[in-house]
Amino acid sequence: MEKREQLYEGKAKKVFATDDPRFVIVSYKDDATALDGLKKGTIAGKGAVNNRMSNYLMQLLEKNGVRTHYVKELSDRETVVRKLKIVPLEVIIRNISAGHFAQRYGVEEGIVFPEPTIEFSYKNDDLHDPLLNAYHAFALGLATKEEMNWIKETSFKVNEVMKKYFASLGVTLVDFKLEYGKDEDGVLYLADEISPDTCRFWDAKTGEKLDKDRFRRDMGGVEAAYEEMMRRVFG
Ligand code: ADP
Ligand code: UDP
Repeated sequence: MEKREQLYEGKAKKVFATDDPRFVIVSYKDDATALDGLKKGTIAGKGAVNNRMSNYLMQLLEKNGVRTHYVKELSDRETVVRKLKIVPLEVIIRNISAGHFAQRYGVEEGIVFPEPTIEFSYKNDDLHDPLLNAYHAFALGLATKEEMNWIKETSFKVNEVMKKYFASLGVTLVDFKLEYGKDEDGVLYLADEISPDTCRFWDAKTGEKLDKDRFRRDMGGVEAAYEEMMRRVFG
């Protein structure tokens, strides 16, 4: 497959066209942003960690019956994925209180929920990604009711597969964000990435943070945390 013109440059990845209109190439950068884009920086080696980990997880999910955009890893930073029309929703699953959930509802971090929660935000930088529910998404024409149901069921399934997998690596999956997209026939796929940028990972024994919170909160040891997650996944 041949790489063609750049279609998009986001905060963490670039997207390139290919000679086949069904596929694009995503290229992972070391750039990091947080706090609604106010905080900017780089995390050395992050692009490669996120690319390789995301590809590994997408393949694990495929094996477990989840349709994903993953096609082929080209290099440390570049991957061919199915070209999709992204549903402008961030789907967030939480197993344990942290981040905005803890802030919003005035509770401490670390409360293990009796069952996982789901929430949606409208992917719109100008509006600062406001929270919305499935009715709002339907009202705004972002997705049909059937699509919202599929997205919800699939996201909980992704959680079950990932929770079990990360537990086997001594890592607690606290929460994470997913995105979905549709192909030309309207078929939904899991898209974007699953990485320490988009998940909260806590060491199961020590509680140490092994994700982007180290960057968001200026905790230091950011690169080391990404490398540690890489080591857990790939040995
Ligand atoms: P952002 O746009 O939030 O800055 P990124 O830097 O990660 O995020 O850019 C990657 C962009 O590519 C995102 O807008 C994401 O929704 C989009 N994307 C992810 N997977 C696919 C896909 N399979 N097809 C088309 N676009 C995708
Ligand atoms: N998340 C993400 N992108 C976003 C917002 C959140 O990947 O734009 C992830 C984040 O890494 C965490 C989960 O979604 O794993 C829940 O994030 P939260 O709502 O607590 O917001 P945050 O504190 O991360 O801004």
